[in-house]
Amino acid sequence: MQVNRIVTLFSNLIYPSFCPGCRRFIDDATPLCSECLAALTPTVSQDIEIGRSRSIAIYSVTRYEGVVQRLVRAKNHSQRTAAWQLGELVAQRAPCPWDLFDGVVPVPLHWTRWWRRGFNQAEIMARAVCMHHALPLFLPLTRTKQTKFQAEIGGVAPRLDNVADAFAFVNEQQKLLCSGRSLLLVDDVVTSGATVVALARLLYRAGAKRVSVVVSARG
Ligand SMILES: [Zn+2]
Repeated sequence: MQVNRIVTLFSNLIYPSFCPGCRRFIDDATPLCSECLAALTPTVSQDIEIGRSRSIAIYSVTRYEGVVQRLVRAKNHSQRTAAWQLGELVAQRAPCPWDLFDGVVPVPLHWTRWWRRGFNQAEIMARAVCMHHALPLFLPLTRTKQTKFQAEIGGVAPRLDNVADAFAFVNEQQKLLCSGRSLLLVDDVVTSGATVVALARLLYRAGAKRVSVVVSARG
């Protein structure tokens, strides 16, 4: 608790405390003001079957709409702040059993997209989650193929094809680190779930004990 307080005080020094929903000043350690938080539509956590009697639980804060949608789509200089606010929102509001996990894994970004944007939104979110819940950050995965944006593709099956071979482990050592561990994938938004299914299959093949997903919003 003490650590969390210090962390939030620290992040308040870096990021101005204005509610991204209504621009009202917020003086406590929350990503949105209480009114904007109350206006979020909660989502029910969902399990996706991924074969061989395995499934992944997806924990999300809200539907992909309103202020959360604006934060996910944030452009220019405000992007990093938006990513941190999404991470804090996830850390504070997602109905996730945090104690079950040994580490947090952000959904990787292809380097060409990283180059253009300068950072990985999911990684900033994952760092906020790690700080809040005192969990280690794992970066075992890389995106080897520049995939189309999932939003540009209709249907679950084509989306699975789009990402099926798009990811790999950074190296053998990182792959070994995932064995026997319960890992929590972090991303901004899940729609069809094709991306997280592809990643979860990879992590399970490496011997992960449990893979779940936490996101700010479900599309
Ligand atoms: Zn507000």
